[in-house]
Amino acid sequence: MSFSDVLGQTRPGAILGRFLKKGRVPAAMVFHGPDGVGKTMMALEFAKALLCAERPMDPSGSCGTCPACVSASKRTHPDLKLVDTHYQGSLREEDPAKQKTLRVDTLRHLRKDMEFGSMMGCWKVAVIPAAHTMDIAGASALLKIMEEPPPKTLWILVTSRLESLPATVRSRAFLVPFNPLSPAVIRGILIERGLEERQARDLSELCDGSASRALELHEAGLPAAVADPFDASEGLPRELYLARAKVELSIFCIEQSLRLRLRRGEVRYTRAAPALQGLGALRRHLHSNADPGTILTLAHLQVENL
Ligand SMILES: [Zn+2]
Repeated sequence: MSFSDVLGQTRPGAILGRFLKKGRVPAAMVFHGPDGVGKTMMALEFAKALLCAERPMDPSGSCGTCPACVSASKRTHPDLKLVDTHYQGSLREEDPAKQKTLRVDTLRHLRKDMEFGSMMGCWKVAVIPAAHTMDIAGASALLKIMEEPPPKTLWILVTSRLESLPATVRSRAFLVPFNPLSPAVIRGILIERGLEERQARDLSELCDGSASRALELHEAGLPAAVADPFDASEGLPRELYLARAKVELSIFCIEQSLRLRLRRGEVRYTRAAPALQGLGALRRHLHSNADPGTILTLAHLQVENL
């Protein structure tokens, strides 16, 4: 599979291709940029380009069909570790959904595994999505191996919050920036997933360049108009943290829908600006423990007659 199959990320693909062309790959890299733009997908594609048995180190990417590529795609290749919530959940024999942070024990376990080197006599790659959730102890476990990496081992840390990654880790890694996706790319992704043209177009303009955000908004039923703002809070989850998350997403939907109408000239700036300010204030109240249902009603009232 070619790096260009990771849609809308030509520049990171070219950077990675140059490493392969020169035959020199850094021991650690950080892929950073917004959520839902293909960072983890690209990390896995780069790992496959190293592990591919048919045409290893090809600057355009792996063959995609040899046994090494197939097992890497299925996440069963012994030399590719995807250190996500499932990885940590199975180590700890816990529910993956409960793995909110990357724990030091997980990184120590992984470090030992990486120190053994490749099972197949080739490369060994660890891909760590949500790398910013590691704590200081985890970072220092990682640093030990980053300072003296075994040959042919690669760590790819993936994050949407580069600033939350310890500076000591950042400074030892090669940084690869990822940009938000263009609306056209997102539209294509959504249509491929079976969404209708108009729906895909609206969502692609509302999601701030993130394909996963667009899908999340779609699942949340965006852009939903409510018949009566005072009924908006019906059906909110009973657990406070879940209700807060849902209201947060609803406020985002309302704001983005208003921005879209503004761009299309359907509402005047002088009317939209105070509403956007009001929505921002409501979000701050939500985070300072205001009742989510009340906040949601007030959010709908902000835009009711625009
Ligand atoms: Zn292959």
